[in-house]
Amino acid sequence: MKPLHSWNRLPRITPDTVQALSAPSLPDQATLPFCIYGNGRSYGDVCLSDQGTLLHTRTLDRFIHFDRHQGILRCQSGVTLEEILQLIVPHGWFLPSTPGTRYATVGGCLANDVHGKNHHEAGSFGHHVTAFELIKSDGEALVCSPDDNHEYFYATIGGLGLTGLISWVEIQLMSIQNSWMWVEAQRFGNLDEFWYLNEKAEQNWPYTVAWIDCLARNNARGRGILLTGQHAASQPQLPRYRELPLTVPVTPPFSLINNLSLRSFNNVYYRQPLKAQGSLCHYSPYFYPLDAIQNWNRIYGHKGFYQYQCVLPPAVAPEATSELLKAIAASGQGSFLAVLKTFGQKPSRGLLSFPRPGATLALDFPNRGERTLKLFETLDAIVMAAEGALYPAKDARMPAELFRAGYPDWEKFCNFVDPAFSSHFWRRMTA
Ligand SMILES: Cc1cc2nc3c(=O)[nH]c(=O)nc-3n(C[C@H](O)[C@H](O)[C@H](O)COP(=O)(O)OP(=O)(O)OC[C@H]3O[C@@H](n4cnc5c(N)ncnc54)[C@H](O)[C@@H]3O)c2cc1C
Repeated sequence: MKPLHSWNRLPRITPDTVQALSAPSLPDQATLPFCIYGNGRSYGDVCLSDQGTLLHTRTLDRFIHFDRHQGILRCQSGVTLEEILQLIVPHGWFLPSTPGTRYATVGGCLANDVHGKNHHEAGSFGHHVTAFELIKSDGEALVCSPDDNHEYFYATIGGLGLTGLISWVEIQLMSIQNSWMWVEAQRFGNLDEFWYLNEKAEQNWPYTVAWIDCLARNNARGRGILLTGQHAASQPQLPRYRELPLTVPVTPPFSLINNLSLRSFNNVYYRQPLKAQGSLCHYSPYFYPLDAIQNWNRIYGHKGFYQYQCVLPPAVAPEATSELLKAIAASGQGSFLAVLKTFGQKPSRGLLSFPRPGATLALDFPNRGERTLKLFETLDAIVMAAEGALYPAKDARMPAELFRAGYPDWEKFCNFVDPAFSSHFWRRMTA
């Protein structure tokens, strides 16, 4: 069997068996433990296992019910966000929380309690889930909601696929008037300017996120572009939108992201002309810019890449973010995919949910072996001292002690882990 990987192409590991689920139930005869693989859009090993049976859920791709008046959708867990959007947008509904890829499945979004650019207003994915069904290895099928089986409800949101198989999910959608966004972009010269602009932007815009030049130093540290957006109001004439399919056809033998290409890209991107008065943008390039390039993860070459995403508590976020960026710039590593966003105050529902009040910084790093891992040790020390946390969905190497410190409810969560379920990530954290 060929080794499997997730989106960042590392680690590459081979389970004993792989099985695509043909029905929403667990196989009777299988090598344990089970590990669930949605669409592999995580970066790391939450959806991978070198033991037992890997269960593919993309085959659970049926819509069960769509109430187009109330905006309530129930579908099987392997349905992707893209498939949902195709169904709901023409009826004036949208996903109330969405990550930066539409190729994630609903089950994967629930199990990682994913967040989007509107976290400061809307919270994370789990806040909009009204119910789901959880199938445990003892054959029990629990319908979970805030009222029924509520302990499993809160353990399964952000529960990394360890509490059982999520067979279907019901979501309360949000209403929109058309498929367009109204967006504005503002340049900021350093981190201090970011905090100031971002605070104002969060009061006025439902969607905010900043791109950061991770190599800028000294007074320009943390310079970047703040992107704000809202769903466009109804208007008589809207442009036509057509997506051009682009693809990275092969995996180059080495990463195309090096210090030189990154520095030049960042300079050009930072200085791009911005439309001061704002503009219309279709929801697709606004929410899912990377999805427009099929297989973009190949640009990092055969060795793959890491994503490092942390959250830092509000009181220390400015200082700790600055320290992180200083260490990254000094190392000369990083990529053009560097994003800074603040989370809102809404407490996450899941026992292991990543979103919490504070700032979240996410960066991709080409895998340069020891050099990259050494940098992560420095970054970990800053996150640990700040009492922050790393995002399991984006992790292939965090030390168990950092996970345990960042997720103080992890022992309580263990009471809800199905004994027949595990993952490579979970064994690393609990060994
Ligand atoms: C370009 C890009 C941008 C992204 N942007 C964001 C972002 O803005 N915010 C964010 O939060 N994340 C983001 N992500 C991460 C991604 O949204 C999450 O990792 C998501 O969970 C992936 O879903 P998946 O269906 O591919 O699940 P997988 O990656 O296959 O699995 C994720 C987890 O869900 C579990 N799981 C999946 N299906 C089930 C099921 N039916 N029952 C039980 N457990 C299940 C798996 O076991 C695993 O633990 C991004 C990823 C990419 C590639």
